Amino acid sequence: MRIDLHTHSSVSDGTDSPEALVRHAAEAGLDVVALTDHDTCAGWQAATAAAAEAGVVVVPGIELSTTLEGTGAHLLGYLPDPTYAPLAAELARIRSSRVQRLKAISERLAALGVPVRLDDVYAAASRAVTVGRPHVADALVTNGYVRDRNEAFERWLGEGRPAFVRKYSPDPAAGIALLTAAGGAVVLAHPWGRGSRRVLVPETLAELAAAGLSGLEVDHGDHDEAARRELRRLARELDLVVTGSSDYHGAGKTGHRLGAETTDPEQYERLLERAAAAAQRAGRPAAPRPVGGRRA
Ligand code: AMP
Ligand code: ZN
Ligand code: FE
Ligand code: FE
Repeated sequence: MRIDLHTHSSVSDGTDSPEALVRHAAEAGLDVVALTDHDTCAGWQAATAAAAEAGVVVVPGIELSTTLEGTGAHLLGYLPDPTYAPLAAELARIRSSRVQRLKAISERLAALGVPVRLDDVYAAASRAVTVGRPHVADALVTNGYVRDRNEAFERWLGEGRPAFVRKYSPDPAAGIALLTAAGGAVVLAHPWGRGSRRVLVPETLAELAAAGLSGLEVDHGDHDEAARRELRRLARELDLVVTGSSDYHGAGKTGHRLGAETTDPEQYERLLERAAAAAQRAGRPAAPRPVGGRRA
């Protein structure tokens, strides 16, 4: 069983449509793939509809933006009920803050001598429901200022860089409460990738576990061996599920091929149990088991 629990489609900042992503997952030899677009569930229907034909199980998920002490931290929610009104409202609030932020970023870039038109950003975002800095990066590439997204983040868009503008998002404890109340299981995405290690210290991980966090994404391309070892130890200590995932973005992010990192089947089962328990505690109908599967 090959299980990849963190991927992005063109509904947010990936480059594959949800259907193409599901097909590519099957071609990459995956048995299970979770679609976890940023701050939206809009790709679920297309992805689950494509699952049976492709021969892969699709787990509906989401990567929820949160902010802790001014630093971004991402939560992976699995099988939350997307019709749960407080969740839908919070997602809409985050997405609308993202739209406002684009204007501020484009003003900064103009002042820095690398103007991009919002039209170019929206052209790059194409049919995305959630717009983000990667789309601004694509517009910078289109304008010939940088070679790729990574260079755009390093020079202008990343945290602490001159065109960085914060967006609204809830704090992680509030995000966990929301996803759990929606009947989902919550895993902390790449806890020690990029800037978040500074704020996601072991005591904070313990607090989040007490607040209902179900797991840690230990095996992620942004973690070196030492970080993985330490996170695995913390997961054991805090009784958290351990996941591994690619964080695939199609052509939008190099070094994150589908199935590049995978989740142990036992850990996947534990995660599904946590989601079912959350749904039951919240008095919501349990989500059906993820659909799809290999063709006979
Ligand atoms: P946003 O959601 O607008 O805050 O942008 C965050 C997204 O940008 C994340 O999903 C990352 O995958 C992507 N990202 C962050 N840093 C980089 C980078 N150096 N190169 C490419 N993509 C990045
Ligand atoms: Zn992304
Ligand atoms: Fe992330
Ligand atoms: Fe991601």
